Amino acid sequence: MIELVGKTAIVTGGARGQGAWEVRKLSEAGAAVIIADILEQESKSLASGLAAEGRQVRFCALDVASPDQWQSVVEEMEAWQGRLDILVNNAGIVNRKSIIQMDLETWNRVISINQTGVFLGQKAVADLMRRSGGGSIINIASNSAFTAHQDPAYTASKWAVRGLTRSAASEFAAWNIRANAICPGLVVTDLNRGAPHLQPMIAATPSGRAVEAEEVANLVLFLASDLATSITGEDILIDGGFSALSAYRGVQ
Ligand code: NAD
Repeated sequence: MIELVGKTAIVTGGARGQGAWEVRKLSEAGAAVIIADILEQESKSLASGLAAEGRQVRFCALDVASPDQWQSVVEEMEAWQGRLDILVNNAGIVNRKSIIQMDLETWNRVISINQTGVFLGQKAVADLMRRSGGGSIINIASNSAFTAHQDPAYTASKWAVRGLTRSAASEFAAWNIRANAICPGLVVTDLNRGAPHLQPMIAATPSGRAVEAEEVANLVLFLASDLATSITGEDILIDGGFSALSAYRGVQ
């Protein structure tokens, strides 16, 4: 059993999908968790459900592309618990437009959330984590961060998340802050439900199924914990063997 009693976490995009599982797992392990999302109603409903089970969870509005809102979330965590141990940069969007189809505004929107949002998050938490004695930053990239996806803005942003993870691992190591990227394969969520690539991807996955959001959250829990104290600067694939079969790359 992983214990996070006395620890605290911020989970971006924690209202639903994989983020909601991450909030559940971290809070069940004993961490006090802030759900930082643009979806107020869904976040509050998740927070009150978990609070009714005795967990410490609250909502704080955050658009990850806004530096001012990042500042507010970190200030709220310091006022509430006085420390910060774990950041999960999980919020992300897709667009599914090719390079030819994509206009600059669309490109900038994907990059501002998936890539700049991770940069801003790492920057915003570093000082409080340092003053807390260290911490664990977990960035949710994708197995698209190793290959090409039909969504080039998404692909570029997720490759960048791997770079930002290594930069943070290197820059923050002296403060006992670790940073790792989790690279999931297909997880069926509101991000992609009903999309045409789901069945071909599942067919090309050795495990024969999509990854469960709960399985990604288990990996988050491990990386957040003291079981992972020498793991930093890593990209960890969790995709049922999809990326291991390079012959099938391209079905995304
Ligand atoms: P989801 O759409 O269910 O959840 C995404 C969450 O991010 C939502 O709660 C949404 O409100 C929030 N969000 C969106 N824009 C935001 C913003 N500007 N500020 C704050 N929050 C914002 O999707 P999911 O599948 O749970 O995705 C979680 C992460 O996993 C994303 O980074 C995604 O790219 C990544 N991922 C997903 C898959 C997949 O197959 N679903 C595969 C690999 C990686």
